Amino acid sequence: MIGELFQRLKAEVDEASGGRTRILLAAKHQSPEAVLEALTAGATLIGHNIIQQLTASEEALREMGAPEHETHVIGHVQSNKARPALIDAGTIETVDSLKTARRLNTVAGDLGLTRIIYLQINSSNAPSQFGVAPEDTLELAEQIFALPHLTLTGLMSIGANTPDEQAVRESFATTRKLAEQLRAEGHVGCRELSMGMSGDWRIAIDEGSTIIRVGRQVFGERD
Ligand SMILES: *Cc1c(COP(=O)(O)O)cnc(C)c1O
Repeated sequence: MIGELFQRLKAEVDEASGGRTRILLAAKHQSPEAVLEALTAGATLIGHNIIQQLTASEEALREMGAPEHETHVIGHVQSNKARPALIDAGTIETVDSLKTARRLNTVAGDLGLTRIIYLQINSSNAPSQFGVAPEDTLELAEQIFALPHLTLTGLMSIGANTPDEQAVRESFATTRKLAEQLRAEGHVGCRELSMGMSGDWRIAIDEGSTIIRVGRQVFGERD
């Protein structure tokens, strides 16, 4: 079931994006067996919100001989979780302050690692969401480009949480324009846009998303 749902989604996403957009499976609260089913069906990118779940799931998948895949952190990283996050994920999508970036940079340096990060943008200025405000993004990005153990290559946004399609579209467009501005200022590697979830990924692809983050549409409703 999970495998079929993934393959159906993949076909739809390939069609909608011309093959330009990847699918990250949001695996919060999913069993390693469920994730393995998706990986076996061709999924290549897994995201976790909770670092303990990331670590436990990746360990179980290794023991089960799961296919190679890439892992991203898509939830807020508390500073005491920086170390396991950097060890178990190739990319951290949710950096939203200089304090968090400096902490990750220091720990990555201690571990002898370089990690890819994205900035999380609070693109609808929602009080309930993490993320840097759009107007503060360019300055924060410049400070992070100076950190030697982090490589900033994209922006992530949850987008406006509303049934108003136009507001959702505008929040994704805001994020896309920030990435365009960063590239115009010479940061040509800043190409990834992680935007769109089960309910709004088509709008996100319209607005330039390169990675959609999908949970329920493949794994089913969460309890
Ligand atoms: C859970 C989650 C998703 C996926 O949401 P669905 O509605 O289950 O597709 C995407 N991004 C983040 C940050 C999430 O926490």
